[in-house]
Amino acid sequence: QDNADYLISRIRSVEGFPKAGINFRDFMPVLADPKALGLMLDALEAALPVPADSFDAIAGLEARGFLFGPALAARLGKGFIAVRKAGKLPPETIGESYDLEYGTASIEIEANMVQPGERVLIVDDLIATGGTAKAAADLIRRAGGEVAGFSFVMELIGLNGLAPLGDVPSSTLVTMP
Ligand code: IMP
Repeated sequence: QDNADYLISRIRSVEGFPKAGINFRDFMPVLADPKALGLMLDALEAALPVPADSFDAIAGLEARGFLFGPALAARLGKGFIAVRKAGKLPPETIGESYDLEYGTASIEIEANMVQPGERVLIVDDLIATGGTAKAAADLIRRAGGEVAGFSFVMELIGLNGLAPLGDVPSSTLVTMP
């Protein structure tokens, strides 16, 4: 519990960012703190939604999923697949568009990055509506992989963000309003 409190104490909340009415949850101070960074990686590993031997690779979402996904993958002896915002990767890519509150967004992976039948754990810092994580899952499946689970550091409560993910197991370290 002390460890959980310490980790939570390092999460910064910024009212009104990136626009009025949003309370932005920021885990950059967790990364900057050696104790909190170690605790976060330990907790992600301990909370894995499925056993480590039941997936082959970790896919992380740009940008903050890139900050701890590779570290977690290295600990578990897995590779890391980068799910990027559209337009950053050389061809061939596979893309997936999804709806935001206003407008749409697109994410991409390199074609052939996912092996047929490869079991992938998807990681991101935060789940809100679940739209981003759902799009990443659809992308991995279209690339020929299977989604083994989702690991999040934070979940915003009240948005029912896990619902779009169906019955794939997920884990979250911290829930916040
Ligand atoms: P969703 O698609 O609505 O679940 O939004 C989740 C995506 O938006 C993730 O990629 C998050 O990194 C980002 N996001 C949304 N709200 C926040 C926040 O308060 N802090 C940090 N990232 C956020």
